[in-house]
Amino acid sequence: MTIKQSVEFKKEELTRYSRNIFLKEINFEGQQKLKNSKVLVIGAGGLGSPLLYYLAASGLGHLSFVEFDSVDLSNLQRQILYDTHSIGRKKSLVAYEKLSALNPEIEIQHFSVKLNSENAFEIIDNVDIVVDGSDNFPTRFLVNDVCYFKKIPLISGGVLQFYGIVLGILPNQTSCYRCLVEPNPNVTENCSTVGVMSPAAGVIGALMANETIKFLLQIQPNIINSIIRIDLLNLEFRKTTLPKNENCILCGKNPKYTEFNPYLVDYKETCGSLSFSIYKQYL
Ligand SMILES: [Zn+2]
Repeated sequence: MTIKQSVEFKKEELTRYSRNIFLKEINFEGQQKLKNSKVLVIGAGGLGSPLLYYLAASGLGHLSFVEFDSVDLSNLQRQILYDTHSIGRKKSLVAYEKLSALNPEIEIQHFSVKLNSENAFEIIDNVDIVVDGSDNFPTRFLVNDVCYFKKIPLISGGVLQFYGIVLGILPNQTSCYRCLVEPNPNVTENCSTVGVMSPAAGVIGALMANETIKFLLQIQPNIINSIIRIDLLNLEFRKTTLPKNENCILCGKNPKYTEFNPYLVDYKETCGSLSFSIYKQYL
């Protein structure tokens, strides 16, 4: 965690954050902690939009995010950081403008690059927690692996159709993402054809923001070492402990990977039925 510092607030900030400060679980001290905190968000799409909005609005002092894509008309159904005028522009720039306009009191940094195995170790660094709202499994495995070796806490989320999961990992203390999910190179179906319920992305993204703030303020219980499975079609929420996997190639008894090596692991772009089966499996 960031070393505690005493933080001064301007009068306007006290008004801006007053509804946080009124909460006994946050209070003035919690708001100071948020201002000192550093969070990296992976992806500024369907999950990243509500996630970044709420973290920025809440006064998260040092907020950074990674996003490479440009805004497409088909994004606007759920990616609420963007509007019709944003089409064709880089998401990172539009998101930076929107978040800066929402809260000019915080420091926002954007990485307009595609996160890959050659830049991830450098980008995922010097933060209190990483929050992964990416839309594909190779990125999630990559983020998981870097966080594991750098001992950075990770909240990971995913949404597909009406279903979603959110889970929280503390490297070396809890299970990791690879304990739950194994890459399947045989999957070829494209995730963009499966569909996503618009507000489902909002529910999952907002839940990730909620748990990020609770983790930073150590409000218990929080998502760490848990997985929440959400079925918004049948309106069911279930929380369980992260399952242990002693055969995990990363954090199991005999790990296959003992250091982060971008040339050792093949992070291919696959998505689709793998992800769908994962969501169904945990519901
Ligand atoms: Zn593991």
